[in-house]
Amino acid sequence: TYGHSSLNQIQQEIYSYAHVKQSEIEELKQMAKFRRQFLADVSHELKTPIFAAQGFVHTLLDGAIDDKSIRMKFLKKAAKNLDGLDALVQDLLTVSHMEAGDITMHMEPTNICEVVDEIFDQLEERAAKKGITLKLESGGQDKILVLADNQRIHQVFVNLVSNAIKYSDENGQVVVTLEPTGKKLDITVKDSGIGIPAEHLNRIFERFYRVDKSRSKAQGGTGLGLSIVKHIVEAHMSEVKVVSHIGEGSSFSFELERYQSQ
Ligand code: ADP
Repeated sequence: TYGHSSLNQIQQEIYSYAHVKQSEIEELKQMAKFRRQFLADVSHELKTPIFAAQGFVHTLLDGAIDDKSIRMKFLKKAAKNLDGLDALVQDLLTVSHMEAGDITMHMEPTNICEVVDEIFDQLEERAAKKGITLKLESGGQDKILVLADNQRIHQVFVNLVSNAIKYSDENGQVVVTLEPTGKKLDITVKDSGIGIPAEHLNRIFERFYRVDKSRSKAQGGTGLGLSIVKHIVEAHMSEVKVVSHIGEGSSFSFELERYQSQ
């Protein structure tokens, strides 16, 4: 027979088992809800460029192809939507790998000045078209080593600098500042663009969240850039901070560990 204390113990065990079960069920429900929402968002985002490209191609097939000027115009629009679709699928794959926790970081000594120079070369033309200048402020250094995953940090800069260009009107400036502070390197990407309203600031890192949907889409935005930035920076044990004022500009900053060779 069970003594008083062991009966109590059994009751206790049953209770805690049921309790754990309950929280596990809640967690599973939450995951299922999250997955449904993700699928709904993704389907919605995929549909837009597919419908658009479909529309242009079918209109061409229905006869518009005979008109030379319309032919070029519609083909260009179809191509632009397919390019957008390609960018979206790329970003989706990155985000889904990251959210599944299935990314391996390849940390190595990385010259951050070189990374920024490469990004500037890549984005120079896009910036110049809007009269925007790109500037690196590194205290006169051309070699600052950090411990980072080179490719992924590349992606962080591409996303931040291209946003800075996208969300600036004509004749602005984008400045990347690198400032060593002890064992860390403070990194800031600052623009003189349209700014972000305060009430949106803590939501812009969510996937598919955009302040102005039509502006983002017109610029080829996927709505995933900042959530990718957040994941990568967090995988480098840091966090992204943002300061922004409407009509004055925004600045995004994070830090990386400096690499000290011994
Ligand atoms: P998108 O592909 O729409 O640019 P992101 O995830 O990169 O997606 O950014 C989310 C939203 O945050 C953008 O749609 C835009 O509204 C806002 N945003 C991001 N960067 C900036 C910036 N530098 N200046 C103003 N708004 C920005």
